[in-house]
Amino acid sequence: MEHSFIAWAKQRVSKLSQPEVGIGDDAAVLRASNRSRVVTTDSLCEGSHFLLAECGPRAVGRKLAGVNLSDLAAMAATPTDMFVSACLTKLAKKAKSSGDDDLSPSRIAVEIFEGIVEYAEKYGVSISGGDTNLWDGPLVVSMTVIGEAPEGGCWLRSGAKPGDHVVVTGELGGSILGRHLNVEPRIELANLLRQEFNVHAATDISDGLGVDLLSLFTASRCGAEIELGKIPISDAARKLAVSSGRLAVDHALGDGEDFELLLAIPESEMQRLPPELADVRLTSIGRFVSRTGLWQRDGGKVRQLAPKGYVHGTSS
Ligand SMILES: [Mg+2]
Repeated sequence: MEHSFIAWAKQRVSKLSQPEVGIGDDAAVLRASNRSRVVTTDSLCEGSHFLLAECGPRAVGRKLAGVNLSDLAAMAATPTDMFVSACLTKLAKKAKSSGDDDLSPSRIAVEIFEGIVEYAEKYGVSISGGDTNLWDGPLVVSMTVIGEAPEGGCWLRSGAKPGDHVVVTGELGGSILGRHLNVEPRIELANLLRQEFNVHAATDISDGLGVDLLSLFTASRCGAEIELGKIPISDAARKLAVSSGRLAVDHALGDGEDFELLLAIPESEMQRLPPELADVRLTSIGRFVSRTGLWQRDGGKVRQLAPKGYVHGTSS
């Protein structure tokens, strides 16, 4: 299957932006630039990150590209090249989304690739290489994305200062109802923010707001104090709360895979930050504070808050 697939893939990416040497040789050759390179890698496993029989292989490709691009958005980097690997199951699977036809491993590979091509086209990224294997286990896909650092350097997790606002993009919670398969990496928003505003620190929300906020303020050696009432709650989180018996705000705080951005923005910059940028809402939900730990402010009272989240591996 490998040779015919490679020939097809080489043809399929011919209209995308091209590296110096791309698919079809022993290794890719990327043009050098004077900017620092930013590299991220992330894999998705059937049964943990997706249910192939429910979502179909194209959605797996979309999600793989989306989660990797989200990590580059969190660094304010511009993605240039994607590398993708898939360990395909030897036995064919049935996918609801593609009717009653059984899906052969090569058909699954093509569909995953098509999902990735959608994101490569949308974000102007090359698909510069990859690998496929057949095995007896479940479907595992992996991607590495290379990008360029912005002028002045990347955002890191370690730059938040006490007094900075805790800002989140979009609306949070309930991604399990579908949004986790249609990740909208905040590349454009991050680039605009990087150019126009002084952002002290950033990460993307992959494991849940509470957990990702903890990782950011721990790297910054400070704490955070948030107001639960200010957290922008998605419609999906409200819908999920009806069946889960939990509060919608718990879903917004604890559910994973929002793939929104979490930012540390100084007060002076907050004053000129618009409520929306690149059609994405920007909300201050509290402040970074010098006292370590995660705190909830409720009127005049401050209580410690447990950062609950969905941790499904060691991905960042
Ligand atoms: Mg991340």
